[in-house]
Amino acid sequence: MARFATLYSGSSGNSAAVAQTTAAGTEFLLVDMGKNCKQAMLSLQQLELDVRGLKGILVTHEHSDHISGLKVFLKKHPVPVYGGVATLEALAAEDAVPPAAQLIPIDGRQEDIAGFGVEAFATSHDSAGCCGFHIECADGHTMSIATDLGYVSHPVMQQLQGCGLVALECNYDKTMLMMGSYPYYLKSRINSTRGHLSNEECAETLAELLAAGCTRFALCHLSQENNIPDLARATVMERLLQDGRFTPEQLAAGALTLQVSPRHGASDWIEF
Ligand SMILES: [Zn+2]
Ligand SMILES: [Zn+2]
Repeated sequence: MARFATLYSGSSGNSAAVAQTTAAGTEFLLVDMGKNCKQAMLSLQQLELDVRGLKGILVTHEHSDHISGLKVFLKKHPVPVYGGVATLEALAAEDAVPPAAQLIPIDGRQEDIAGFGVEAFATSHDSAGCCGFHIECADGHTMSIATDLGYVSHPVMQQLQGCGLVALECNYDKTMLMMGSYPYYLKSRINSTRGHLSNEECAETLAELLAAGCTRFALCHLSQENNIPDLARATVMERLLQDGRFTPEQLAAGALTLQVSPRHGASDWIEF
């Protein structure tokens, strides 16, 4: 059985878990660690995950909302860290990981991490490097996670297609961003092709994935300033239902999973 949850998600910090239970017990990977070690341990407890089952941490990029808890956590729990070469170099250069940390680049190949087949794919974002991850579990079920991307390129779309679950950034409402208090340069940065994904862009992408058969989605990395969880959910849900794929009965029976990842604390698990 494969499952996905977020430990916390949003502009103030991001971390997610992918877990599978096999004969070896429950083992899991984390994606990013953007809050302190204490918060990670609290969320793991909420998710009923024993840290001894952690097999590695995948890092999308070196922005602080993805790595600020890494150093202290790795001192206590020294597991391998996986990511793109540029990201790992930035982590080492910025002293964001202990000197003895095991950093393993996985650009352009699939890495077997304790029975999880992990592939990194490049995303467009204003960092040294940035990637999402495609993860294949031992039972053959797959998921992809992509946050911090200015747009969904064709290669990214290919990594999202065919997955049992997709966790995608749903960062901002365009009107809230444009009418909000951010200075012009910051609005431009967020809205650019190297910034973040808006609710509308996320909705369009998920509608395409739904048409191709995916029915489990997690909305991640919501902006605190420029988004509201109910608005993000409503924008995406409205778009997903536009094509009339579901009857009210099917929806009531749980034919579609659309989870908004909470800013603080762990989400529910989604099985895929
Ligand atoms: Zn970022
Ligand atoms: Zn971020």
